[in-house]
Amino acid sequence: MSIDVRAIRYCPRCTSANYTFLDDRRWRCATCDLVYYHNIAAACAVILTRGDQLLLTLRKSDPGAGLLDLPGGFVDPDESVEAAVIREVHEELGIVIDTPRYFASYQNRYYFREIEYRTLDLIFTASVPEGAAPVAADDVAEVVVVRPEDIDFEKIAFASIRQALQDFPGDKFRH
Ligand SMILES: [Zn+2]
Repeated sequence: MSIDVRAIRYCPRCTSANYTFLDDRRWRCATCDLVYYHNIAAACAVILTRGDQLLLTLRKSDPGAGLLDLPGGFVDPDESVEAAVIREVHEELGIVIDTPRYFASYQNRYYFREIEYRTLDLIFTASVPEGAAPVAADDVAEVVVVRPEDIDFEKIAFASIRQALQDFPGDKFRH
């Protein structure tokens, strides 16, 4: 059961109930003329390579608890996406990576506590630094090391991440 954000009916400026949902991301207040945009959120993930293997994460929490994911998360306010990738990898795996390289972007829908957030997932690539020892932390239950050809795509939590892994060319896995 999810909350329908179109049901938000009170203007955040003047509290009028003449506050209506216009389309898939805008509300307008007929009393004070406020227009409010609920835009997509920026999120990031990183295809992390070590030799000819990839590091996936097993999700500890919903959405997608028990399913596979890539390290990543929402970009914080006032943060670059590159900084977000480095921060998320450090939070989830306890390692510090070099500057990640941009790969591609995919749209996604992320349900959290009854609200659906529409996101743009920016996918990067990076390699695990020599000698670094990733360990599961934060919302990661387990680090899963896998060869690209052995990924079970049915067990990937999100469509955006599944598509990124399917699009990532195998011959570029070796950095
Ligand atoms: Zn208003």
